[in-house]
Amino acid sequence: MSEEFETLDPGDWEEFARTAHAALDRALAATRTIRDRPVWQPLPAETRAAFRAPLPRAPMPLDAVVDQAFADIFTYPMGNTHPRFWMWYMGASNLTGALADFLAGADGSNLGGGNHAAVEVERQVIDWLKEAVDFPTSASGTLTSGGSVANLIGLAVARNRMAGAEIREAGLAAVPRPLRFYASDQVHGCHQKAVELLGLGNQALRRIASDRDCRMDPAALAEAVAQDRSAGFQPACVIASAGTVNTGAIDDLGAVAAFCRSEGLWFHVDGCIGALARLSPTHAPLLRGMELADSLAMDPHKSLHAPFDVGCVLVRDAAAHHQSFALQAEYLDPMTRGIAAGGWLFDYGLQTSRGFRALKVWMALKEHGADRFGRIIGRNIEQAHRLARRIDAHPRLQRLAPVCLDIVCFRYDPGGLAPDVLTALNREVMMRLQEAGIAGFSDTTVRGEHGLRAAICNHRTTDEDLEQALAALLRSGDQIHQESRA
Ligand SMILES: *Cc1c(COP(=O)(O)O)cnc(C)c1O
Repeated sequence: MSEEFETLDPGDWEEFARTAHAALDRALAATRTIRDRPVWQPLPAETRAAFRAPLPRAPMPLDAVVDQAFADIFTYPMGNTHPRFWMWYMGASNLTGALADFLAGADGSNLGGGNHAAVEVERQVIDWLKEAVDFPTSASGTLTSGGSVANLIGLAVARNRMAGAEIREAGLAAVPRPLRFYASDQVHGCHQKAVELLGLGNQALRRIASDRDCRMDPAALAEAVAQDRSAGFQPACVIASAGTVNTGAIDDLGAVAAFCRSEGLWFHVDGCIGALARLSPTHAPLLRGMELADSLAMDPHKSLHAPFDVGCVLVRDAAAHHQSFALQAEYLDPMTRGIAAGGWLFDYGLQTSRGFRALKVWMALKEHGADRFGRIIGRNIEQAHRLARRIDAHPRLQRLAPVCLDIVCFRYDPGGLAPDVLTALNREVMMRLQEAGIAGFSDTTVRGEHGLRAAICNHRTTDEDLEQALAALLRSGDQIHQESRA
């Protein structure tokens, strides 16, 4: 062996192929039989301990590595590929995307840019996503690790554009009046991280009161902007939510767009939850006004169910986007011929080396067609509305927020319990359903009221799954309530 020339290629190609094919078969079977398994199960202590072994110095046969991965890793997934997982807001993955991740890895290209086919794939996926949300073809975009970075990039362009041309060189110190950004009090936490990282500070992101429907109150927005102007701040950007993470509420995008235009503000839309509902003809009208955004973040690893991770940001003014991230590096001179001739995708974001995450979106969109994704997104929204009706009709269930997209906030409430007891009861219901592997609900607080939350972003969820889970939830709630009174 030591005499041989070492590479990372298989020593025995036939044997590698057998192992790889068997691994593929096992992964397919796991998805095919997913209903036979619990939504989630905890790792046994001895399995967890196996992950504390030190750096392996010596080789191990690949089939043994794969066996261990199936035994210790793939037996204990998070659960979001299961049809009865509705926690937080996630996609349920898909096997075409998984296959694409393998093929992208084998292709191995670096999507920092250059003159090769993978770059064309990413450009095409971005063009398709523009088409899906009615953005102009002249807009720019980039695929990111997810919605958080997509939003960060959009807000960075907003900051740079609104602060003036000098900010990249001179920093925020050169900005005469401190910038202010605005979003509803329902805005996703990634925007706080973004304004912190952009040097603006958390206080620069003013949280505007939301109304009873959890939508940003336009009068409160106008008042905050006017206040800030007279106090010497520079209002710069409004972040509208096209689907809040908590309840799925959609801000009045048309009104925010008009306000931004009249006030000269950047209009950013966080569409990580709702933007791609534009693919469902029935629900597209909910998003009217989104197409007017200066920048728009969305999340193919949510409603397109791409395997993690892939997000996307679109920027209407492609030059402003490029000017925020482009560099002139002497070792990266653009060429008119050869491998460096394609232009650099890293001039539109933070990463220099970039993965081929476009392929999993490209392959799944080609295989299924965008309309199927639209139908599935529409079905999840309809399921949320049906669940809401079931909750409203039940004496021991109470809904906590209007349903707009595919998120339902509600609680089990037998009546007459103190708030903290009710919270504890609902948490216990949630835990028991998770620990029994029956269903994944999360919990949240809406306008001060604690409850459970079902985010039905799942292409495998049937109406029967929801019925079954709701029945189990009621049984569990009744039982815990009985126990506590005994
Ligand atoms: C999920 C989400 C994000 C963050 O996206 P990641 O893909 O998790 O980084 C931002 N905003 C909203 C509304 C989201 O739902």
